[in-house]
Amino acid sequence: MNEELHVDARGITKYYGDHQVLCGVDLTVRSGEVSCIVGPSGSGKSTFLRCLNSLEAYDDGSLRVNGQHVGYDLRDGKYHEWRSKDFASFRSRIGMVFQRFNLFGHLNAEENVACALVEVRGMNKSAAKSRAIKELTKMGLAEHAHKRPHQLSGGQQQRVAIARALAMDPEIMLFDEPTSALDPELVDEVLEAMKSLAREGMTMVVVTHEMGFAREVADTVHFFDAGVVVESGRPDEVLGNPQMDRTKAFLAKVL
Ligand code: ADP
Ligand code: MG
Repeated sequence: MNEELHVDARGITKYYGDHQVLCGVDLTVRSGEVSCIVGPSGSGKSTFLRCLNSLEAYDDGSLRVNGQHVGYDLRDGKYHEWRSKDFASFRSRIGMVFQRFNLFGHLNAEENVACALVEVRGMNKSAAKSRAIKELTKMGLAEHAHKRPHQLSGGQQQRVAIARALAMDPEIMLFDEPTSALDPELVDEVLEAMKSLAREGMTMVVVTHEMGFAREVADTVHFFDAGVVVESGRPDEVLGNPQMDRTKAFLAKVL
């Protein structure tokens, strides 16, 4: 195993019924790398991201995340299901941020960040609270800690969601179109928060339509189409000088 690879996906295949959505995805992410996944709607980007933290099972291929085999443990040539203790510890090392913020509506920002620390980590309430305040402060939300989601803008809610994920000390952060549900004027504050996270050296996989962000922040861009990675490389290569016709056609539409 290569210890430097936080994601090592080989030939990942997935079906929904008869519909094959992933057709052999090969993708690696090194430690500290920001990988952006771009591509048309329906190409399997979210499905792949959900496989990375075992929200979805894949049908074939091999997948390691943070050095651990995902979904199944392949011992003596057979698949063994996760043991629940291993699974909880695997999950808690992966942060995920969705298009919709998925905050608890009845909890304020600080409680949204603190609750997993108490429930999953078994941290005492006052330690969880101070950790939550620290993460919210890093996200520029110190004065909003006592507001509930409906009292916050979409951009603020998404930053609470990022703070909540970071409070768990993840080894990798997965973002699935984190700015797609936001009003245009709120996109930048979320992208800025993600940029500062990238500067701190966080390993990140970001599904995004924000080509400016991908160009500026990504170390590697992966272009997905019809369930495969068509082209991967530096942003100036994949976005600036694409080699494949499918990449060229997509970029001609979005740029
Ligand atoms: P993307 O994120 O690139 O837009 P998705 O991974 O969401 O693509 O979807 C890939 C394909 O899988 C689409 O055709 C979508 O309709 C289908 N799909 C996604 N989730 C499900 C599901 N839970 N059940 C059945 N089909 C699904
Ligand atoms: Mg998607």
